[in-house]
Amino acid sequence: IEKLVDGDKRVIATKHLLPENNINVVVRVRPLCNKEIKSGDAMAVQFPGDGQIYCDVVTSSGDKKPKVFSYNVVFEPNATQEDILQYSGIKNLIEMAVEGFNCTAFCYGQTGSGKTHTLTGPPRLFEKMDPYSEDHGLVFRSFVYLFKVLQEHENCNFVLKASFLEIYNEKVIDLLNPGTARKPLAVRWSKKTRGFFVENLFTVECEELDDLLAVLEEGMRNRSIGTHNMNEYSSRSHSILTITIISEQAMENGVFISKQGKINFVDLAGSEMTKKTQSEGKTLEEANNINKSLMVLGYCIASLSDGKRKGGHIPYRDSKLTKLLADSLAGNGITLMIACVSPARSNANETLNTLRYAARAKKIATKPIIVMDPREALILSLKREVGALQTENEHL
Ligand code: ADP
Ligand code: MG
Repeated sequence: IEKLVDGDKRVIATKHLLPENNINVVVRVRPLCNKEIKSGDAMAVQFPGDGQIYCDVVTSSGDKKPKVFSYNVVFEPNATQEDILQYSGIKNLIEMAVEGFNCTAFCYGQTGSGKTHTLTGPPRLFEKMDPYSEDHGLVFRSFVYLFKVLQEHENCNFVLKASFLEIYNEKVIDLLNPGTARKPLAVRWSKKTRGFFVENLFTVECEELDDLLAVLEEGMRNRSIGTHNMNEYSSRSHSILTITIISEQAMENGVFISKQGKINFVDLAGSEMTKKTQSEGKTLEEANNINKSLMVLGYCIASLSDGKRKGGHIPYRDSKLTKLLADSLAGNGITLMIACVSPARSNANETLNTLRYAARAKKIATKPIIVMDPREALILSLKREVGALQTENEHL
């Protein structure tokens, strides 16, 4: 059990001895915002240590019901953006993606809880890019770390590809090709890769850090196009930024080993939408779609964590979000869930919902596998066959 402290020896996060497996869940509690402070809102959460968080909610009948939850790490309000890179476990995901695994990091939480802040930082960063800003989020910091990791693999060739999409009302919009806002893209099943993919999605080959940043900037700009209220819009859509990492390594015997991994950064729709179904018309349809995709995501994770696969069926197909994340949730890779919460008493009910959703996720246990190039897999299986035949011969 560890306490993580900053330069002034203040606790920024506490860590629990929960087993680290293929889904790790961390919680980030943002500071009280000015509006909350002005209105005299109090803290509803406390930090007992050891990766625990305590949230008390006063129920309608007036009784206080304190709840304690444990996660891999609980980040307290004074944790910085850099702390999230260092201690959330994201570095492990990046290293795994380079090794050929499919990894996903997603932020879950109510609107205003800090999901976008955690992933990308405040939107003004993308109006005038300052690479040294302290506010840069996890995505920018992960890109920098990714290049550091790639440089350490000296005898490997890498190709990086990036794509950035948004799921709005079950429609897939390419954030690198805003024209698709009018003509959404189709999600299809590929027999070849045995996975879902987005047809005609723009992918950008990236050679250097600046190329990845350009993708991030372009997508962030397009996210708000045609919207009157950015926050309102983003609370109803999921965005997925994907970096695919293809590596080729020459072995001593002249054989090339080719691996393909990826990392998804997912900014989910506001979790409070799951209950706002009393609204009408288009909003009701939107709310239902968000409701459904977050519920299916939760259900996919929960049925994996229960270990009982309900007759082998996990309902990935029930939403676009889970279709597109299936290859990383289903076993090949690791998932990091960052549950974002507000500390304010006025948000305590939503905070409690987020903490419950996050706690269910932690029980997931899948076994990651490496994605191999079909050529390489064939060579391996032929080698095995030859080996088996040789042993047979020896016994004749
Ligand atoms: P969400 O994406 O979950 O709706 P945002 O990331 O937009 O929430 O955050 C809501 C507001 O709170 C923004 O003004 C943001 O800058 C601020 N905020 C969120 N998290 C933090 C944090 N850790 N430190 C400082 N400000 C934060
Ligand atoms: Mg947001």
